[in-house]
Amino acid sequence: DAKAHGRNGCRYYNPELTAEAVHRVELEAGLRRALELDEFIVMYQPQVDARGGRIDAVEALVRWRRADGSLVPPLDFIPFAEECGLIAGIGARVLLRACHDAAAWMRRGLRLRVAVNLSPMQFRAPDLLERVCEALDRSGLPPGLLELEITEGALMEDDARTRATLAALRGLGIGIALDDFGTGYSSLSYLKRLPLGRLKIDRSFVTGLPDDADNLAIVRAILALARHLGFRITAEGVETAAQAALLAGLEADSLQGYLFSRPVVATEIESIAARGWTIGALDRVG
Ligand code: C2E
Ligand code: MG
Ligand code: MG
Ligand code: MG
Repeated sequence: DAKAHGRNGCRYYNPELTAEAVHRVELEAGLRRALELDEFIVMYQPQVDARGGRIDAVEALVRWRRADGSLVPPLDFIPFAEECGLIAGIGARVLLRACHDAAAWMRRGLRLRVAVNLSPMQFRAPDLLERVCEALDRSGLPPGLLELEITEGALMEDDARTRATLAALRGLGIGIALDDFGTGYSSLSYLKRLPLGRLKIDRSFVTGLPDDADNLAIVRAILALARHLGFRITAEGVETAAQAALLAGLEADSLQGYLFSRPVVATEIESIAARGWTIGALDRVG
């Protein structure tokens, strides 16, 4: 058949393309099987209130635990799952699991907001609201304890619909955070048009603080912008005490990163939440 397409036909025999195609077919089959076998697990990374030094939220981060016990990180399968449509099923599991875990913490007296990542396809799915309401109903989690993290990529199409979706979620009392802020390609004008509640400063801008003058300027500008527009700010990728002190001094609301904790399984959150951190805010950096 390839020959019938003339010279271009030879591309079907390119061994690299073949290997790539085989990999994709195997990955898709693997992900389908993983859904059936319930192999996706959700880990949680604390977000620490920059003032009080206590955990006030966690971000849910999915991993694929394969039969051999290995953990596949999300960036190795989420983008592909988005491409082949399997993200809907995976995302629904993560959302429900996260709501159940946060509701269980709440029933034991630990009120933590749980932040769940939504891929652009999930955000645009016509049944998003239904899925979210179902997860809240089934878990008993109050909507105020759920935050959905979306990326700039989710906001690029169909402004009116985006706004309606966000308004409906906000209307239910659910928080919306714009993840990886500053790394996308959209214009800043959507910030004043869309009902967002929080910006998450991407890790790439936190790296190298406090010495990196460019990143310092960017982080200061994002914080000033957020303050002006009334958004909360979470800084991600906080790895050092100096970064934490700088960000607290600049009045970031919350901090997330390896300095406080890596993502952990749900059962570890309660002992981590019992701890507190002293964040030596650097004064007069603003
Ligand atoms: P993200 O939402 O920006 O999540 C933060 C990522 O940075 C996580 O990686 C986290 O483990 C990592 N991280 C946190 N603190 C530090 C730090 O101090 N230093 C460094 N070097 N890294 C840090 P992870 O868990 O591998 O997730 C990667 C991305 O995969 C996430 O980025 C998110 O975009 C996506 N993702 C994860 N879970 C889900 C999910 O359930 N659904 C969807 N759609 N995407 C997900
Ligand atoms: Mg996120
Ligand atoms: Mg992020
Ligand atoms: Mg990020």
